Parts: sequence; C-alpha cells; structure tokens
Amino acid sequence: MKDTAMTRFLDATDVAKLVGAIGVPVALAQLADHVRQDFLRWEQFEKSARLASHSPLGVIELMPVSDGVQYAFKYVNGHPRNARFAMPTVMACGMLAEVETGFPLMLADLTLGTALRTAATSALAAHAMARPGSSVMALIGNGAQAEFQTLAFHAMLGVREVRAYDIDREATARLARNLAGVPGLSIVPVNTVQAALAGADIVSTVTADKTRATILTPDMVRPGMHLNAIGGDCPGKTELHPDILRQARIVVEYEPQTRLEGEIQQLAPDAPVTELWQVLSGRAPGRGAASEVTIFDSVGFALEDYSALRWLYATACARHAGRHVELVAMPPDPRNLYGWMMEAQAPRSAAPQETALA
Ligand code: NAD
Repeated sequence: MKDTAMTRFLDATDVAKLVGAIGVPVALAQLADHVRQDFLRWEQFEKSARLASHSPLGVIELMPVSDGVQYAFKYVNGHPRNARFAMPTVMACGMLAEVETGFPLMLADLTLGTALRTAATSALAAHAMARPGSSVMALIGNGAQAEFQTLAFHAMLGVREVRAYDIDREATARLARNLAGVPGLSIVPVNTVQAALAGADIVSTVTADKTRATILTPDMVRPGMHLNAIGGDCPGKTELHPDILRQARIVVEYEPQTRLEGEIQQLAPDAPVTELWQVLSGRAPGRGAASEVTIFDSVGFALEDYSALRWLYATACARHAGRHVELVAMPPDPRNLYGWMMEAQAPRSAAPQETALA
C-alpha cells in the first residue's frame, strides 16, 4: 500500500468488465479455489455471525472477518420486493484492508462477487455431497443468482440439464435466453416445482420472499437427492419443510450464524449439523449412503466474501482494473489533520480526488 497511499476502487462496471474479460466459468473456478483455500485454514480466522438490521421489507447486514493479516467486510442487503422499484433484491459492496496499519486496500462492488462466490461455494459443497455423476439439476427461483448457480454446477459438477421453475415465467425465459448457446447445457423451463424435480439429482432453491415459504415438501424429495438451499438466509425466511431437514445430512457454513438464519432455524438448537470446512478438509463425510438426502443449508458467510475480495484484489491489481481514490485522509504530517484540511481548501493545492489507472 505505502507506495501509493491510495485505495483501489472498483465500481460495478469495473467488476463486470473484469469478470467478462476472464469469463464467468474461469472466474467461478478461480473463486472456488480461493474459497476452498480459505475454508481449509478455518482456524486462522476471527469469525462472527453477521450483524443484521431487520425492517418490514428487508434486511441490511454487515459481515466482517479477519485472518490477522487482512481484514474484510461486506455490506449487503436483502429486499425481496425491490423489483417493484427496479432495484435488485441483493446489492453489496466490500472492503479489504491490511491489519498492520488498518489502511483500506480496496473498496469494490460485491453484488456480482456475491453471486459468483455463492455459486462457487454451492458447487464446492455439492462436489463433496451430491452423488457422483449427478447431471440433472432442478433450479427453483430463476432470479439474479440463477445463471451463476447454473454455470457453476455446469462447469464444476458436469450438470448438463437444468429444469427451471419460477412463479414469474419471464424470469425462467430470461434464464433460458441468457444461457442459450452454452455448449453441453440445456435449460428446460417447466411449470411446476414437481416437474422441475422429476429426474433431478440436485435441487437448488434460490427463491426470494421474506417469509417461511415451503418451496419443497417431503413428498417431492427422492432418496439420494442433494438439496442446495440458498434462498432461506434470514430469521423467518426459509424454503424447506422441516420434515425434509429431519431426515437429511445437513452441512452449514458457520454454525452460530446458520442456527439463526438457515433452514435449521426450524429444528431444535442441538440438531446435528456439520460445518463445510470439516467436509472440505476430509474430517467429515459430505455423504454417507447413495440413498441419503444431503442438504447444503447456505446463508452466505463472511469468509466467502473475504475470498471474493482477495480474488478480486489480486485480479484487479494484475489487470490494472479500477481506479486509485483518496478514500481516507493521508496528511503528509499524519498528526496534522487540521493543517492538511486547511491546505486542501486552498485552490492551488487542492488534492486530486482520484487517479485513473492505465
Ligand atoms: P431475485 O429477487 O433476483 O430472484 C428471486 C426469484 O425467486 C424471482 O425470480 C422470484 O420470482 C422467484 N420466486 C419467489 N418466490 C418463489 C416461489 N415460491 N417459487 C418459485 N420462484 C419464486 O433474488 P436473487 O438475488 O436471485 O436471490 C435469491 C435468494 O437467494 C434470495 O432470497 C437471497 O436472499 C438469497 N441469497 C442467498 C445467498 C447465500 O449465500 N446463501 C447469496 C445470495 C442470495
């Protein structure tokens, strides 16, 4: 940092161009590697459940984590009815800072990063939990996350058919349009959840509603299925009937947070669950018998956002993406903040607000 004393800033378009230049499947694979590496050094992180501010229509959350060398946090919202205002349900930005000085290295949009890291983590979990050879996925909820989930399962698990259902038919049509032409992938729009699940090895639930929804009931779930439950991620916001949970092997990201926010909020507080790092490190199996139903009860954990920020920072530095901005005051005499402020007001010596990168 000290060579510039400036913070790298990536707006949403900077991130989109960066991901576009790399290609989504490659970005997903690189991100999955970062997530795996960070989950494998689980003990090194200072972890906490996220801090959530709930309102009648949504939630705003702060998600911090640190490994003692870097500190990261994400700001993220969840407002399932935001489409009424032509705004996304989930919007996010994040910061990466160095612990030694506290200096913010990067401030970046993490809306796209959230979709990518969620999909990469889902596919990592499924790789350890789904039956080998799983090739058909039901995708319930075809909103902003849908393409990323589909591409991650296609690239990382070899899923070749996605049976897509949404209460909004236009959402399913958009998904099919956006992914038409991906080699070896077919999107099959269907009209019911039951039709989506017919023949599915994996079921991803990615719906948004601020309620205890019951997207899946026990009669729909067949032996051996892997459920990738993404949309239930807040107190009072779930997607699965509790009886499905009672008969399944459940893997979560960070137990203290998922007990509050995940599908398992519907179970007794001591119901057995396994954390993802245990599965990825080989300490616990992701699946027992082939007939077992497995569930990745995902709510999104700060460590995945740290992985996303770490990947984004390295990639942006390597490709000179974004800008350098004077995000925090950096007086030449660090204790003369007042004098620096007075200097900054003088027209002759006004400091540049930002520096474009080549
Ligand atoms: P979105 O609003 O863009 O899409 C949600 C889709 O779900 C919409 O197309 C909507 O029509 C559909 N839907 C709502 N109720 C449904 C139902 N009963 N049956 C079928 N479809 C239904 O939201 P998004 O950004 O795609 O996010 C989806 C969900 O995933 C949200 O609840 C969000 O909070 C959650 N999420 C979780 C993580 C995680 O890490 N676990 C990360 C990102 C988002």
